[in-house]
Amino acid sequence: MIGPVTCPAATRKPIMRRLTITEEARMDWMVAFLALPAGGVRAEFPDEIACADRLRAMRWPHGVHSVRCQSTDVGFLELRKLYNCRNCRRQFSVTSGTIAHRSRLELSFWFIGAEDVITAHAQGVAEALLTGHGLADRYGVSYAAAYRLKQLLMQDLAAPSGLIGARVCVRDVIIPPDIASSDLDRFFWLADQVIALRPH
Ligand SMILES: [Zn+2]
Repeated sequence: MIGPVTCPAATRKPIMRRLTITEEARMDWMVAFLALPAGGVRAEFPDEIACADRLRAMRWPHGVHSVRCQSTDVGFLELRKLYNCRNCRRQFSVTSGTIAHRSRLELSFWFIGAEDVITAHAQGVAEALLTGHGLADRYGVSYAAAYRLKQLLMQDLAAPSGLIGARVCVRDVIIPPDIASSDLDRFFWLADQVIALRPH
């Protein structure tokens, strides 16, 4: 005679373990991924003007300030796309002080690159996807330029004060309060959300 069969799932204790270092790092990338524009960065910021507008609005929400003296007495040199401070005479651009400064790459490259870096890390496929040669092919730039783009983006996106990451992440990510207190629950919730969203 066989005794009552207990359902293993019902009696099993929840798996308690710590997140690995890789998983912990991936959580930040997943949050950033979920904050990307719903239709993708290309659709949200379709050209250089849209990217520059976004940068300007985030950097100077209360109007453009001189990067040297903070004066708001600032003009714009349309042809050269430069601001000029009438107080200290400093000329600067919307990218001054960001990783895109002095880059020959257009601003939209930085935006799209940020989306690619965030997406690959969120999906856990960064090593396979973010090779210098892969990015060079994808963007039609030299290997050296692609490699540098990736390195600078990684630094910028990893830093809380990074300038590009905050610009491409436009949506608030609200983690349900009932899972927010457990790292493990949060990780799997985020992973489910990332899988549910098709890559742009
Ligand atoms: Zn100034």
